[in-house]
Amino acid sequence: MRTIIEPFRIKMTEPLPITTRREREAALTSAHDNVFLLDAEQVTIDLLTDSGTGAMSDRQWAALMLGDESYAGSPSWRHFEKTVREITGFKHIFPTHQGRAAERILAATRLKAGNVVPNNSHFDTTRANIEYVGARAVDLLTPEGLDLYSEKQFKGNIDLARLEQLIEAEGEENIPFCMITVTNNAGGGQPVSMKNIESAKELLRKHRIPLIIDACRFAENAYFVREDEKGFADRSLLEIAQEMFSLADGATMSAKKDGMANIGGFFACNDDNWAEDFRNLLILTEGFPTYGGLAGRDLEAIAVGLMEALDYEYQRYRHATVEYMAARLVSRDIPVVRPPGGHAIFIDAAAFCPHLAPCDYPGIGLVNALYLEGGIRAVELGSVMFGKPAAGDRGEIAAPHELVRLSFPRRVYTQSHFDYVIEVLDLLRQQRDSIKPYRIIKQAPFLRHFTAHFSCDA
Ligand SMILES: *Cc1c(COP(=O)(O)O)cnc(C)c1O
Repeated sequence: MRTIIEPFRIKMTEPLPITTRREREAALTSAHDNVFLLDAEQVTIDLLTDSGTGAMSDRQWAALMLGDESYAGSPSWRHFEKTVREITGFKHIFPTHQGRAAERILAATRLKAGNVVPNNSHFDTTRANIEYVGARAVDLLTPEGLDLYSEKQFKGNIDLARLEQLIEAEGEENIPFCMITVTNNAGGGQPVSMKNIESAKELLRKHRIPLIIDACRFAENAYFVREDEKGFADRSLLEIAQEMFSLADGATMSAKKDGMANIGGFFACNDDNWAEDFRNLLILTEGFPTYGGLAGRDLEAIAVGLMEALDYEYQRYRHATVEYMAARLVSRDIPVVRPPGGHAIFIDAAAFCPHLAPCDYPGIGLVNALYLEGGIRAVELGSVMFGKPAAGDRGEIAAPHELVRLSFPRRVYTQSHFDYVIEVLDLLRQQRDSIKPYRIIKQAPFLRHFTAHFSCDA
């Protein structure tokens, strides 16, 4: 059959808020023109993030009931540990309340001011945690990865030549670890090839630099490897994931992504000293090492979810949904990052709004127009999220791209929901000149996009 269907049926429903234009205008104004500050009941289709927003399966709901809430040594912890170890092979496994907690403890225990951490692209929380301890987060995408419209596969690959130059320039002793993010969320959700991880590991091994995988979407990445990389077509997604983790020295994970859960994360590694330091800080800030800030029931749901994410039929359907939307946007002349990544569609807001400069935050203009027109919530990944105040004067260094991300929560929306989003975007494209410039009128020193207040005076 050519039609790829959802490999599940719906057992429970949740009503969607349907709002009027006037209600949305009032809501956005009270949210200081920042969709992060909207109440969820004011949003009809919420594509803000795929993080923690998925629908759990009947198996996961059943697993919740098996959750054992013992403080230490709970069987739910052992189920979690056994599953994570089966997939990753790592010796030490630590649950955390979400991905950034793993990043924070990793940064606090392994980095000092002046250190450098390379990555294909750092996600915003990863970068913030590295910068918070005074280290430098360096993105090393390949030229194809930086080209939004190149049809090349594995555009999430780390640039090996630039990695080598960075090691020469900074010195291996100043690089406590290198990261690779699969798939590359900040760079369009693009996958990383097994070959690239293997070659990076070879180079890092020569310099005794450990490799940490930011594994949030490890199963989606495994699907791309199986479909598009030579030699993997008859391997299971689990085998592919196992091979990938075998190349690394550790991993940070947000279970809110390919853990198919609503909360949770973990850090895993092989080195005993790293584990000792991590454990000590974990106890101080997250909890005892057999629960790490999670309830026993969460550990159960994650253990089931991690394996469900590796189900081939599930990944095939998920990717078909992304492809469905991308193909329809392209045929309507809407500039989307090519080829589509694993968990989201990224619209090039700079190309969508040619009348706006980066300092007008075209991504915010498009995000707010999507909300006002259709009650759809998306997120800017442009100069608000990744831009920086320039030294000296009051200007800003713009981000390399002005993107708007429409993330796909896992197993939540149906095809007609996506048809609706396509229709709204088509309408906005026809009236794109009316998309307005925005200014920031209040911001925090880190992760400003979450809480900034905007105003548009046009
Ligand atoms: C979500 C995400 C994180 C952080 O995880 P949280 O659970 O949101 O703290 C880190 N890296 C990447 C690539 C992510 O997508």
